Amino acid sequence: MALADVLVLGAGPGALAIAVALAEEGLKVSALNDGNPSKPWPYTYGIWGDEVDAFDMGHLLEHRWQNTVSFFGFGAIDPKDVSNRATPHNRDYGLFDKIKLQQHWLQQCELAGVRWHKGLAADFAVDATSSTVTTAEGLELRARLVVDATGYKPVFLRHHDQGPVAVQTCFGVVGRFNKPPVNPGQFVLMDYRCDHLTPAEQAEPPTFLYAMDLGGGRFFLEETSLGLAPPVSMEILRSRLERRLAHHGLTITELEHEELGFFLPMNLPLPDLKQPLLGFGGAAAMVHPASGYLVGNLLRRAPVVAKAVVAAMADQEASSAVIAAAGWAALWPKELRRKQALYHFGIEKLMRFTEPQLRAFFTSFFALPTVQWYGFLTNTLSLSELVEAMWDMFVTAPWSVRWGLMGMQGRELKLLLRFLFPRG
Ligand SMILES: Cc1cc2nc3c(=O)[nH]c(=O)nc-3n(C[C@H](O)[C@H](O)[C@H](O)COP(=O)(O)OP(=O)(O)OC[C@H]3O[C@@H](n4cnc5c(N)ncnc54)[C@H](O)[C@@H]3O)c2cc1C
Repeated sequence: MALADVLVLGAGPGALAIAVALAEEGLKVSALNDGNPSKPWPYTYGIWGDEVDAFDMGHLLEHRWQNTVSFFGFGAIDPKDVSNRATPHNRDYGLFDKIKLQQHWLQQCELAGVRWHKGLAADFAVDATSSTVTTAEGLELRARLVVDATGYKPVFLRHHDQGPVAVQTCFGVVGRFNKPPVNPGQFVLMDYRCDHLTPAEQAEPPTFLYAMDLGGGRFFLEETSLGLAPPVSMEILRSRLERRLAHHGLTITELEHEELGFFLPMNLPLPDLKQPLLGFGGAAAMVHPASGYLVGNLLRRAPVVAKAVVAAMADQEASSAVIAAAGWAALWPKELRRKQALYHFGIEKLMRFTEPQLRAFFTSFFALPTVQWYGFLTNTLSLSELVEAMWDMFVTAPWSVRWGLMGMQGRELKLLLRFLFPRG
């Protein structure tokens, strides 16, 4: 059985991004997936325009919007109330053509010589010189390093236990409507208006609308819960979307597609960085804990991790554990772990916020200078810049938000302390 430099498990965005980066560094890369790697991915991937441009991947977008807004007012009780107006983001937002993105990465894999195997990874063993993965079908694959990129429930990676995980849930529809549900050419990141709900419902966990004009009379509307443990159910999301539509006199005239059943864990704890295999993508807690986005992170961090792995492999005697340690150090350096602790603290706070608090919070957040809120949402601020942005947000927010941020409940203090003493 030939020894590969790296065996990557999975064929989602995480696996493809890291397989390409490693192979382009000249490593011999094999990949193992439990199905055809060309099988279309189930999710849609959104990304900010500047992020996609930085990687010169704008041609892989299916849609791009300049008119990007959110709504953080209560709703139409007083239409003259300026808080009900749209908050413009003044930044492009794009949606990947997921087939094009997948094919782009698969072609790069092919050009760089990645070798595909089919099978369900079932067992992992490591010895002094290499690692072996055995599939349920009995295939044995050996490599100097294994990268587990099998998604949020990774097959081999272990994570620290941090208690309940906040899960984002959404219920979406693609279709045509009796009238445009958003302005022509518009993308709505978050519509928190809730005047269609009864006071009792407004006291329940808040949800918002994520919506976009897909062109040609088609729209995508998704009722979303930012993140909650236990998660907001599909039934509630569906009923809230129906209520929202009815309130605005909207009916679906042609239903193209319903999107339901997706659960996105937002604050997955960090993986144990001492294990002798590496992780990447959702498996390695790389999803942004506040936005739920992953693709920008993959593109930024894959080349950095690949370089660290190559450097560690230059020592022909280096064990899987030593190479994995170099990869982990590049993927989760201390500064990033400290930032992650702040994000986890933040999402814990937001989970407890009432609907008016949440609307006030986002009003203040998006009133920050663009460089701060954009850097926060893309995880591109340095640690000190992130602390500064959070502080600026705190001092400019109304007292209802400040009190919510100050009072420590449940595990919040423990999460905040991880900022000082990050896990490894
Ligand atoms: C509803 C929703 C919306 C999202 N929206 C966005 C967005 O707008 N923008 C964004 O950037 N991100 C978004 N994300 C987050 C993120 O991009 C995805 O979750 C992403 O698919 C995770 O990629 P991954 O490669 O880590 O894992 P996955 O996509 O889950 O891929 C895992 C791969 O591993 C394979 N596999 C699993 N077990 C085994 C095994 N034992 N042996 C072999 N192979 C195995 C699977 O077949 C699969 O190919 C969203 C996620 C969700 C759920």
